[in-house]
Amino acid sequence: MAKLLEGKILVEQIKSILRDKINSAGKKLKLVSIQVGVNPACEVYVKSQKRAADLLGIEYQLHQLDKVTNGEGLVSFIQELNQDNSVNGIIIQLPLPLHIDYKKISQFITPGKDVEGMHPLNLGKLIFGKAKILPCTAAAVMELLSSIGLNLSGKEVVIVGHSEIVGKPLSLLLLEKLATVTVCHIGTFKAGKLEEHIKRADVLIMAVGKAGLVKGEWIKEGAVVIDVGINKVGDKIVGDVDFEGASKRASWITPVPGGVGPLTVIMLMRNLVEGANL
Ligand code: NAP
Repeated sequence: MAKLLEGKILVEQIKSILRDKINSAGKKLKLVSIQVGVNPACEVYVKSQKRAADLLGIEYQLHQLDKVTNGEGLVSFIQELNQDNSVNGIIIQLPLPLHIDYKKISQFITPGKDVEGMHPLNLGKLIFGKAKILPCTAAAVMELLSSIGLNLSGKEVVIVGHSEIVGKPLSLLLLEKLATVTVCHIGTFKAGKLEEHIKRADVLIMAVGKAGLVKGEWIKEGAVVIDVGINKVGDKIVGDVDFEGASKRASWITPVPGGVGPLTVIMLMRNLVEGANL
């Protein structure tokens, strides 16, 4: 039976390291969050970011811009924040209204204030293994793997999902650890090859967003399963993997909720502290 790989214990450890750094620097940090229009989907993220910031003594400031704000308006607001020395980090809440392209806009955040780790300069540093500010979810997965002391060198790691925030940056972080990385995606699924790849994974990382995509019997005996997926099924939140079935074969498995999620927000705070050079 698999052991549970929960995020909450790690969260406490990382929080305590960050709190020490902030206290010993004696510097007041400020994180600014920008929301355009009102979207209930943002509220959950804003609340959990504010809670994490409060616990670390970081000032969290939410700016709710009018829903008619256009790309130019948002960029000029970001540029003001870039120049404001009292601001250490900037987050743009998603989803943005359809008339604003997040990929274009996020490039205007100065790299040192890019707490989500999505500026091309920060992403580019991943190629050289030199990134200090990392995409939060990918960083959370790496923390979970490191917490169980797994030596990734030569391990077959299969990632399913090739998004910019999870699968792509994770593949680079895992290569740095000398893992043998396979990235699967919709093309793999359409070719009917998902099962074949998953069955040989020593470490499986799921980041798709489809409940029940992976059957328990596909999991290799003793594999480590990290389920990033978040899916609402009725009134329950589940991942992409059949948790019950996979638990019988895996050595470690993340619960959903309670695995990757709690760590993601604390990675945002770690990026803020890195960006402030504490
Ligand atoms: P995304 O941008 O929609 O990416 C999903 C990926 O899965 C894409 O690469 C997509 O390929 C691929 N895909 C879709 N259907 C597939 C299938 N049947 N078989 C194989 N691959 C398939 O999503 P994301 O932002 O990376 O998020 C992925 C999941 O993680 C979501 O459930 C999200 O809610 C969750 N998430 C959790 C956290 C956390 O903190 N726990 C953070 C971020 C995201 P194509 O794009 O080519 O179709």
